[in-house]
Amino acid sequence: MRLDNEQESQNIEDRRGSRVNMGLAGGGIGTLAIVLIAMFFGIDPSAILQGGGSIESRVPEQAQSEQQSGAPDEGREFVSRVLGSNERVWREIFQKAGREYREPKLVLFTGQVKSACGFASAAAGPFYCGNDEKVYIDLAFYRELRQRFKAPGDFAQAYVVAHEVGHHVQNQLGIMSKVQARQQRAGERDANALSVRLELQADCLAGIWANVANRDRKILESGDVEEGLNAAAMIGDDTLQKRSQGYVVPEGFTHGSSQQRVRWFRTGLETGDLKKCDTFSERGVL
Ligand SMILES: [Zn+2]
Repeated sequence: MRLDNEQESQNIEDRRGSRVNMGLAGGGIGTLAIVLIAMFFGIDPSAILQGGGSIESRVPEQAQSEQQSGAPDEGREFVSRVLGSNERVWREIFQKAGREYREPKLVLFTGQVKSACGFASAAAGPFYCGNDEKVYIDLAFYRELRQRFKAPGDFAQAYVVAHEVGHHVQNQLGIMSKVQARQQRAGERDANALSVRLELQADCLAGIWANVANRDRKILESGDVEEGLNAAAMIGDDTLQKRSQGYVVPEGFTHGSSQQRVRWFRTGLETGDLKKCDTFSERGVL
């Protein structure tokens, strides 16, 4: 990936190294780890805190925070340029549609963090909270992505940020609140299916970012597309379930299968066309 032509974002909130009092959260870190891994690339941890569900088998060990002593802060710079690139692309897309794009903040944290959606542990992976319009990421997750999820590469890392920004776009377009309202009236199975459609759309929106950024600034290098698609495959629900419990329960999907995630990320990436990201009007198998 080439990001030297992209400007760093001014919307990074660096909370690394600050302590969070988890005592108030109720349930403690164990519960939160359970809750949060389920929200892999998730949206709102509080939604699942109420929902329950049998997801214990997916609990990873507490993600260790990476120390950044002395060395140049490459992690921060990378994320900041990816976010800057997303801001540029979405500002332009919104402008063309006669809307104004409100830039989200991106919070860097280590270990645990407090968001307007509740407390979160790094074990959860990155997430977006619609209540404060912030993306949260512990950069140690990138090591997890490389090692545990077998998804190496800088474009895979950029996709993670772009997916979360995709949720922010959904939030601004009112899609997120509509889906959440429908989920509250639906049974667990339907609520999960809606969650899958929301997540796949965020994947598609991440693809849109990459398409437009590459068109304008030639960010993609050879091997990048493969890295991105591999990452989408490695974090599919079926692949994660197989790795953690040895079998697949499609009713329990909340983010989509590997095949679905690859398909929708690719759709955005290849077309750059927002209209192609309508994951909600497709019937049956997406
Ligand atoms: Zn997501």
